[in-house]
Amino acid sequence: MSKELIEIAGKKFVPMISADELQARVRELGETVWRENASANPLFIVMLSGAYVFAADLLRVIPTPVDMAFVKYSSYEGTQSTGALKREIGLPESIKGRTCIVVEDIVDTGVTMKQFMADLKEKGAADVKIASLLVKPENNKANIKVDYCGFSISKEFVVGYGLDFDGNARNLDSIYKCID
Ligand code: 5GP
Repeated sequence: MSKELIEIAGKKFVPMISADELQARVRELGETVWRENASANPLFIVMLSGAYVFAADLLRVIPTPVDMAFVKYSSYEGTQSTGALKREIGLPESIKGRTCIVVEDIVDTGVTMKQFMADLKEKGAADVKIASLLVKPENNKANIKVDYCGFSISKEFVVGYGLDFDGNARNLDSIYKCID
């Protein structure tokens, strides 16, 4: 992993989780998710935009065709959660009776996931599990239970591997944390 400090829009970031660590952990998670859920013919629901890289790697561990859907809920502006949710791309109608596995980049306060779980229930999902690359347990006030967690981190703001700072840095192959 690069030891370089990087600067994005005037804020400083340092390396936190290397590309190799991410690849190894995501492979492990993908194998576990598939071993435990293959028989349920799950529908994978990817939370855009942040989870797109995680989902691409996680779901390519699965050796057989699976159903996928994409949703987009947003609550962040800059480095802070606004608490107010916008459903920019909503759920498909086809989830009734399905086992759904939500693929998320990070569970922070849990507000987004709490609302999303309520939406899934309302649309008739039979069972819902969460796979999140990152979790910030100290901030998770909504007490969201993450079934498949890549890494627990503390409260720092992170970018890379799909996660952005106002649209920038999603392409980085490792995760960086803000030190400002
Ligand atoms: P929550 O509703 O759990 O507070 O926040 C969920 C969303 O906020 C995540 O899906 C993600 O898009 C964004 N988010 C939370 N923490 C971070 C972070 O450290 N970095 C980035 N880039 N986004 C974050």
